[in-house]
Amino acid sequence: MERQPEVEVATPAHGERLVRVARARLEPGRFSWIWVVDACPFCGQSHSHYAGPRSGDPYRYAGVAVVARCAMTDRRHFLMHAPQAGLWYVLEPLEAPGEA
Ligand SMILES: [Zn+2]
Repeated sequence: MERQPEVEVATPAHGERLVRVARARLEPGRFSWIWVVDACPFCGQSHSHYAGPRSGDPYRYAGVAVVARCAMTDRRHFLMHAPQAGLWYVLEPLEAPGEA
């Protein structure tokens, strides 16, 4: 039903970044905001990313490329042709700022 926006990806060379878009939702942590990616575009697992202090603006941490935290086995599966390439994704908020 929900379509994952995707960036056109060519086979990366060694050391290159493989970047995709990851839908992320904001969760309040105890001391900081957390961007939670429920379905990683690379491995399908859930990853969470620091989004700054609760007093700050977590949207400053969205829209930028961050390293995907995939397990090594998943990375290997995805990077068969370019094992040295880095898996990155751009956090795309599910809700717009102020919509909560
Ligand atoms: Zn992953």
